[in-house]
Amino acid sequence: MIPNASEAEKLLSDLVSFPSTAGQSNAEIINYIKSYLENLNVDVWLDAHKDGKRFNLFATFGKGKIDGIILSGHTDVVPATENEWDHHPFTLTKKNQNLIGRGAVDMKGFLAITLAMAPYFKKFEDEFKNPIHFAFTFDEELGTFGASQILEFFKNEGIKPKIAIVGEPTGMVPLVGHKGGLEMITEIKGSSGHSSDPRGKVNSLYYAAKLISFIEKLNSDLSISTNKITPFNPPYSSLSVGYIKGGQARNIIPNYCYFDWEIRPLPEDDPYLILSKIKTYASKTLEPEMKKNFEGSEIKMKEVSFCPPMEARFKSPALDLINKLWKFNKPSVASYGTDGGHFQSIGIETIVFGPGEMKYMHQPNECIKVSEIEEGLIFLKNLCNYLQNNNI
Ligand SMILES: [Zn+2]
Repeated sequence: MIPNASEAEKLLSDLVSFPSTAGQSNAEIINYIKSYLENLNVDVWLDAHKDGKRFNLFATFGKGKIDGIILSGHTDVVPATENEWDHHPFTLTKKNQNLIGRGAVDMKGFLAITLAMAPYFKKFEDEFKNPIHFAFTFDEELGTFGASQILEFFKNEGIKPKIAIVGEPTGMVPLVGHKGGLEMITEIKGSSGHSSDPRGKVNSLYYAAKLISFIEKLNSDLSISTNKITPFNPPYSSLSVGYIKGGQARNIIPNYCYFDWEIRPLPEDDPYLILSKIKTYASKTLEPEMKKNFEGSEIKMKEVSFCPPMEARFKSPALDLINKLWKFNKPSVASYGTDGGHFQSIGIETIVFGPGEMKYMHQPNECIKVSEIEEGLIFLKNLCNYLQNNNI
């Protein structure tokens, strides 16, 4: 009774039909998964965000929560703009063996595979030497908020798995590490007036421009100062400003603006050290200059989220396990964050490994192939067989 691809396909179709866009409630998709697992007599726990609208889900096959393997995926997806799609993004469409829909590859495909395998895991769970856990998170796409929260849940429930497999689409290539992400919003408050007389006014856009130039310079300095041997690309901690908003009209001096920006640190670099240089420039150089003209001037830096980097471990029990269960693929690293950084931060050996191609992530007509779903099922079947005979 090995679940076949069409069962996973049916589950994927249901999962895609919940438009669980990051930042919104994921209660519907979580309740669907919970009922599905409870119908198989699987123990399920929900870990609610304090807003009561977003949930992590944890489930266990086999005995105990102290060790074992986590299979992890996020339940949220990035938004879909319907007119950019050939089909409705939240209706799974099959075309030439491609399954198309928002989240098909990132990463409801992996969730569907794990759920399709759940009856199989249940059947053999008494023989498992170590348990299998599902850890499904919320708001990974916004800033790995669910994974950050689930660590506290693990602590409270005494859950200490040894290995985590984060099933992001890597084309079944093990990703052993990734950069982190510190996401920031900076607000600049100045003073307003008619543009015909800028004297004594604090133009918030001018100060944003100065600060952004400083960030650009810091990025450029980092890019040339590093001669480290690192597997990451680019081979330095990078900074980027992505969005700016402020002002009302050409002839009004803007008293307020804000911009979104980020630091993507290498695992060995401290992003807060980089941040402190920017904060110092803002508070010691720019703010005093602004306050000379308007005492109420201010530069505020707000941290939106922090996704810890995942140190690249080319030798680890997690990679060993993947190599026992799947054909050898040269391990790689990524420059984007995943929930994996949080798991590694509490001592769980973590690897990012899953079916489907990265190039379809976050794109219109996002898809996963039926053959990739089959690969994922075979991998999990291998894992199930392995756990019946071996300790990890
Ligand atoms: Zn993802």
